[in-house]
Amino acid sequence: MQTVTLNNGIEMPVLGFGVYQIPPEQTEQTVTDALAAGYRSLDTAAAYGNEEAVGRAIKRSGIPREDLFVTTKLWISDAGEDKAKRAFGTSLRKLGLDYLDLYLIHQPYGDVYGSWRAMESLHKEGLIRAIGISNFYPDRLVDLVDHNEITPAVNQVETHPFFQRTADQEVMRERGVQIESWGPFAEGRNNLFTDPHLSEIADGHGKSVAQVVLRWLIQRGVVVIPKSVRAERMAENLDVFDFALTDDQMTAVAALDTGASLFFDHRDPAVVSRLGNVALGS
Ligand code: NAP
Repeated sequence: MQTVTLNNGIEMPVLGFGVYQIPPEQTEQTVTDALAAGYRSLDTAAAYGNEEAVGRAIKRSGIPREDLFVTTKLWISDAGEDKAKRAFGTSLRKLGLDYLDLYLIHQPYGDVYGSWRAMESLHKEGLIRAIGISNFYPDRLVDLVDHNEITPAVNQVETHPFFQRTADQEVMRERGVQIESWGPFAEGRNNLFTDPHLSEIADGHGKSVAQVVLRWLIQRGVVVIPKSVRAERMAENLDVFDFALTDDQMTAVAALDTGASLFFDHRDPAVVSRLGNVALGS
């Protein structure tokens, strides 16, 4: 698997597997299938409610720990130095692991600075190989970078053909932060899988629209973590390393950018309040 080198020298697979919206009772088998398909990077979150099931699948697989790259995320209700340390311990226990590869602040809300201090110290203790953030717009990212010791290794943000984040990616690049896409397929919104421009490119390569989108992101230097509960799609989404988009095709995809989220704007006060009130399950 192709990797990117994070700002602390850690290697991260450029393509991994996301488990958002997979019900806990379906997650163990789905992750088992994903690992059998060849995925070695897994992306979960405390807020997804399926860390224990991910942990069971990891254990069941028998894959050596050092061959895996496991990411989870800290939810807003656990923001703050002490709470973040406790939440990290809970996530680690649920996953059945003794260290994490990547721990992200899931949302840019609450006591982000307290959380970051906790994560810096857990990283220094050797319990997390890399620490990062998610859903940070450039202003919040620069503020965090400029006033803390450790620069986030990764910023996981909504990134797909209809919301491409090229200017945001440039800010991240300047600061040494790796961009990671969530929602690479925009969860199918805007009829992504039947988009005529993407379909034409896909037909030209004998590939699917999903494969073209992942290839386009990887060629832009974006880490991807597509989600699927279906084994044939898991394999399809991994099979993107035997073709390349031409410059003209890259430009054609670039033209699809709307410059706006298809989900929600993290800078909208209503969104800040709504997400800030989402509590974690047990
Ligand atoms: P996504 O990967 O853009 O899209 C998933 C959808 O696409 C599912 O409906 C899946 O259906 C379908 N799909 C997958 N492969 C396909 C293929 N080859 N052909 C046709 N349809 C296909 O959406 P996402 O799950 O929201 O994003 C990916 C990961 O990013 C998440 O799982 C999560 O780990 C992470 N994420 C993070 C945040 C954050 O705030 N940090 C937010 C959202 C997501 P089936 O499952 O039925 O195949």
